[in-house]
Amino acid sequence: MAVDQERMIHPDEARATIFRYLWRLPAESVSLVDASWRVLFGDLVAAEDQPPFPAATMDGYAVVADDPSPWREIIGRQSAGYVADLEVNVGTAAWITTGAPVPSGATAVVPIEATELADDHVIIHQERVAPGENIRPVGVDLAKGSAVLQRGTLLGAAEMGLLAGLGIDPVEVVRRPRVSVLSTGNELVEPGETPGPGQIRDANRFSLIAALQEAGADVIWAGRGPDDAAALRSSLIDRIAASDVVITSGGVSMGDLDLVKPLLSELARVHFRRVFMKPGKPFNFATSGDTLIFSLPGNPVSALVGFEVFIRPALRSMLGAAEIDRPRTRVRLDHNVQPTDRIEFQRGIVRVDSEGRLKVSTTGPQASSRLASLVGANALIPVPPGAESIHAGSQVEAILVGPLVTERD
Ligand code: AMP
Ligand code: MG
Repeated sequence: MAVDQERMIHPDEARATIFRYLWRLPAESVSLVDASWRVLFGDLVAAEDQPPFPAATMDGYAVVADDPSPWREIIGRQSAGYVADLEVNVGTAAWITTGAPVPSGATAVVPIEATELADDHVIIHQERVAPGENIRPVGVDLAKGSAVLQRGTLLGAAEMGLLAGLGIDPVEVVRRPRVSVLSTGNELVEPGETPGPGQIRDANRFSLIAALQEAGADVIWAGRGPDDAAALRSSLIDRIAASDVVITSGGVSMGDLDLVKPLLSELARVHFRRVFMKPGKPFNFATSGDTLIFSLPGNPVSALVGFEVFIRPALRSMLGAAEIDRPRTRVRLDHNVQPTDRIEFQRGIVRVDSEGRLKVSTTGPQASSRLASLVGANALIPVPPGAESIHAGSQVEAILVGPLVTERD
């Protein structure tokens, strides 16, 4: 049955359609040092205890707890990194450093601040020394056999430290999606060039590369092409063959030189072409074999909003990431907002005020060509279509696409 590709579909339907064609990326093994900010492939269970030996948590003296006499004979020294041949008994103590294994017989560590040295003895100036005091027992930080990290976890600073501590090197992570980016338009020149009459510099290739990197993709190719059917066709054929995902910008509107649109019908299976949203109504989604093709409109804000709303979650899902979507929250509008005839993703800045409340203001004129409306924005505000303005003070939903900002007075 022929699909009505020109039917304007709701963003939720667009997302559901895209998600039907997603597939899971395979695992790859990378050395630990290269694993930062990658997605963990499988669940991880601790193969050893941490700490592996009872360790002192203070510099001081290892003693027998509840030994009534404050005087102890010093029998030796135990610092971190080896095991000294020491046996602590009632009436004796071993000098010890933080992280060192507690000598056998010792059941507590008295901090150096609570002691006084007297030749070959130490005097304990502490009322009661309880068993286990200042000792980290075996496995207390991480018990052997316990779940450490779940698949889909993003390997940030703490996760990397955990992996290193457990000796996991190399690490099985999810292979990054291989993505090609193609900017189309006769008017486009390189950022390093001076545009001639009627020309502009290619912005989308660079904004999309950055957005892709943040999303965890591997940008294997990025280029620019004119509105020329033969050149675009050969470029698209190459990129489809080499990539998991192809992203194009420009050439999907109604003009005679909007050549990406007809080429997609020729080279791939088009699933939809128009979404009931603003900016970014012409958003083409097609597949060719396993390759996903997203064709974004050329206006720089439309391209990035389309990426954020549809392509980023698709890539995160292919990666099996625990977090696919950005967090959403309710925020208070700082000023009136006028809805349009479509769902409009207005760009906003969500700030935390001194009382800890969240408030949002939009970033000035919301034209789809005005990239400045995205600069500094940490939120998209999906404004439903309507005639009535939404008043300042109303609660609206915000999609948090960046870190919260603290309001300054
Ligand atoms: P199009 O979708 O090709 O009709 O382009 C829509 C608008 O976006 C036009 O004003 C183009 O000049 C502009 N545009 C297209 N591609 C880019 C690009 N890569 N960088 C900046 N502006 C672009
Ligand atoms: Mg164009």
